[in-house]
Amino acid sequence: MDFELKILGSASAIPVLGRHPTAQVLTAGAAHYLIDCGEGTQWQMLALGVRPHHVRVIFISHLHGDHYFGLFGLLGTMHLQGRTQPLTIVGPPGLDEVLVTQTRVSHMHLSFAMTFVPIDTEVHAVVYEDECMTVATLPMRHRIPCAGYLFTEQPRRANLLKEKLPEGLTPAQLGRLAQGEDLPETATHPAVRHADVAGPAPAPRRYAFCSDTLYIPELAELVRGVDVLYHEATFLEELRERAAQTFHSTARQAASLGRDAAVGRLLIGHFSSRYKSMVPLLEEAQAVFPTAELALEGMVVQL
Ligand SMILES: [Zn+2]
Ligand SMILES: [Zn+2]
Repeated sequence: MDFELKILGSASAIPVLGRHPTAQVLTAGAAHYLIDCGEGTQWQMLALGVRPHHVRVIFISHLHGDHYFGLFGLLGTMHLQGRTQPLTIVGPPGLDEVLVTQTRVSHMHLSFAMTFVPIDTEVHAVVYEDECMTVATLPMRHRIPCAGYLFTEQPRRANLLKEKLPEGLTPAQLGRLAQGEDLPETATHPAVRHADVAGPAPAPRRYAFCSDTLYIPELAELVRGVDVLYHEATFLEELRERAAQTFHSTARQAASLGRDAAVGRLLIGHFSSRYKSMVPLLEEAQAVFPTAELALEGMVVQL
């Protein structure tokens, strides 16, 4: 199954030409999971080939506009396109009031069923699960209630080891074995136990999205060893005081968390509009986490 992350926006609250507020799409198989939905997200979806039709769930971290002002426009487009599949929206309480009011005053009767899952941003808890993914909240510290999300792939099946398979199995039998079934003895082959012919199951892939937050060293425990960590890095370390006052992090702090949590890859984003070049932010992060990367618009990460 494909497991891929696409970055739609890397900017923070003030608009900058050529950049976009926070939005990301995690894809598992045919399902898209949209993470935050800043203003103009649907234009970025068009530009980057993400079809609204395939969005199964939308996760919103908090109710600052740069993280959800694109939501109503996207819902309107889904409606105009005649969507019928249900949509789940996961986010802080209050978002449901906004959506109900917007649909009421615009007399919009959505063409699809929408379920809202309110989260408690203070706790680490599972808030969504389907056949591809389990998603848990990560408590952030910000000016208003805010949560990150930890995406964990459902347990993966072990691959069959060719050298251990008996001769003469049909494709249908191989399919059953691959699904974890045992095969009874037949005239052409002995009984085959799945456990005897399969290797160890690969570890489920994990992605942690840490939205707007103060630097929280203890967060390392919750995201330890994830394949990919995204962490906001609004400011450079020279503006550490400003970062603390506004409940944001610096590039060095984001990198420290990545290092302490021993993550596989670190992406930083949510850059302040004051920075015309992101290179200093990248260099500051790489001084602590040498392979840190900028989560810029259009970036695609295979997990
Ligand atoms: Zn923000
Ligand atoms: Zn914010």
